[in-house]
Amino acid sequence: MKKIFITGTDTDIGKTTNSLFLLKALQKAHPNCDLGYYKPIQTGSELGTDSQFISEMTTNVGIEKETYLFSEPISPNRAAKIHDVHIEIEKISKDLNSLNRDMLVIEGAGGLEVPISEKKRISDIPKHLNIPIIIVASTKLGTINHTILTVEAARSKGLEILGIILSGNQDSDLKEVLEEQTGIRIVGEIPYFDKNEFSSGLDKANLFFDSFFLEELYVKIEEESSIWYPFTQHSLRKQNYEVIKGEGAFLYLKDGRKIYDAISSWWVNIHGHSNNHIAEAIAKQSKELEHTILAGFNHAPAKKLANELIDLTGECGGNFSKVFFSDNGSTSVEVALKMAYQHHQNIGKERTKFISLKNSYHGDTLGAMSVSSRNSFHSPFEKLLFDVDFVEPDNFDDLKKLESNCPEEYAAFIVEPLIQGAGGMKIYSSDFLREIRKFCFKYNITLIFDEVFTGFGRLDSYFAFERAGVIPDIICLSKGISGGFLPISVTITNNNIYNSFLSNRIDKAFLHGHSYTGNPIACAASLASLTLLRDNKSIENRISISKATSARIARLKEREVAFNCRSIGTIGAFEIDNDENYFSSNFSYDFFDNALNKGVLLRPLGKTIYTVPPLCSTTEDVNFVYDVIEELIDEYKR
Ligand code: PMP
Repeated sequence: MKKIFITGTDTDIGKTTNSLFLLKALQKAHPNCDLGYYKPIQTGSELGTDSQFISEMTTNVGIEKETYLFSEPISPNRAAKIHDVHIEIEKISKDLNSLNRDMLVIEGAGGLEVPISEKKRISDIPKHLNIPIIIVASTKLGTINHTILTVEAARSKGLEILGIILSGNQDSDLKEVLEEQTGIRIVGEIPYFDKNEFSSGLDKANLFFDSFFLEELYVKIEEESSIWYPFTQHSLRKQNYEVIKGEGAFLYLKDGRKIYDAISSWWVNIHGHSNNHIAEAIAKQSKELEHTILAGFNHAPAKKLANELIDLTGECGGNFSKVFFSDNGSTSVEVALKMAYQHHQNIGKERTKFISLKNSYHGDTLGAMSVSSRNSFHSPFEKLLFDVDFVEPDNFDDLKKLESNCPEEYAAFIVEPLIQGAGGMKIYSSDFLREIRKFCFKYNITLIFDEVFTGFGRLDSYFAFERAGVIPDIICLSKGISGGFLPISVTITNNNIYNSFLSNRIDKAFLHGHSYTGNPIACAASLASLTLLRDNKSIENRISISKATSARIARLKEREVAFNCRSIGTIGAFEIDNDENYFSSNFSYDFFDNALNKGVLLRPLGKTIYTVPPLCSTTEDVNFVYDVIEELIDEYKR
């Protein structure tokens, strides 16, 4: 929680009205910021408290209860004495610690050096609680003297001064002199308003403050959270919304909004948030066995999950026999690449080259980055990555060219089957996959399908390989495997690959593993998710989501700004008429915010807007998202 302490150069200087102006300005600049007002010590409550005043003049500002309240309009230490109370900073600190806001404006009582007890002054509150201060000074005779004294007192206590607010008639000379003499920035100039004009002044509150200052205060809130966010340019993206609850296809934000999760929270969610069946399976497993090493040991959840995955992939036409556990999409790809590479070594062939598709994305670890397209996320690491030959999806000539490229040197060909996700939801044909399969058979190249995104019903079918009718040698699965509850992934392969690792030599084994390999709780969540996935209700849902998505995508084709409208299974995508470069554009951030304001979580990939709904969504949910998308792109056009 970001805290700011408002103090004045004197008593009765307008601290409360200035706190009010600051709150109003912050609300305007950052509408989703959860703001609070707290006056730890209130005196003179007979005449009404400052908190009551702020409460009457604002909406959506949390008014926190004062710690000390005295009816007499006198200094805090004198009022406390009358009531035989001892004002303690520890008590104020305890109250503060129980609060939970994005930002709290805390108002002092009187000036900095006003006593609150025999030994303590107001200034001891921000000092002991490490809260930066803003000094309010009124523009009248004596201001320079009062302000310099207050700044010096604050400095002698080691307080951080964020700025000075000048309150009253505008005086540019005064501003200059004060900035020069104190070295502190004037961050706000609040004109004098008489009673009749006051509320119109409040409406313009943001104009009275230095806009950089309002921005900076906000950045500080984010800094306080200590999180370095994934895929985020922190200097462009200032705001992150706190999620407090998930239920079905919806997320609930701390600011009160209910949001439809149209991208399944990075494509992981399948049966809805906080699904009861999975939650119970997790709770049950946690109490029986939370984790154990998977080398030399095994346990029922891992054995059962491995068997069920082999059964399910078998029902879909696969001939897989072994499941290797890891814990995210990137590691499942690393495992697949290493497995393929070592497989060839184990059978006495030195194959060092890989093939991948242009525009592909396979994860963020070094091996996964190497086989991913080099033009987007991974360019800073280019020199660290191993050489890979890239083929354009659906370009059969490109594929042919590989034949003249010493094809027997290739260890593996890795693809995201049928749709390239993070590369912009690009769909390509089953025919091309079939051709790749033929090519790999011909030259004994291991074919890897990265189904981290496409697995578990996204394309309507359980897996993309099933839909395409093409069986790879290895598949990578993650994301939806646990229904979106826990990080877990698998790399599944056939006996041909597995048997090549069997030997009386240890170095022929696959010497790879992670601490949380085969975590029992994650396996239990995945088993529960698989049961739901195979249920008729889920299958019917997938079909209706797919139908609704393809109908709405077809309708989008009529709109001028929507390009390449496409859908496959439950996924819909199109490009907006926005030719700004992926990395220099704020489009994605702005679209994300605008969609949230309309109740939907959408996070375009550059200029590609897409939907990947949880598979528990209804047709109405899908229609709702596309109504919002249509509104947003119409606004964008204007
Ligand atoms: N492969 C594909 C096809 C993906 O879409 C992703 C993630 N978007 C990954 C691998 C990497 O998965 P993770 O983020 O879990 O490492």
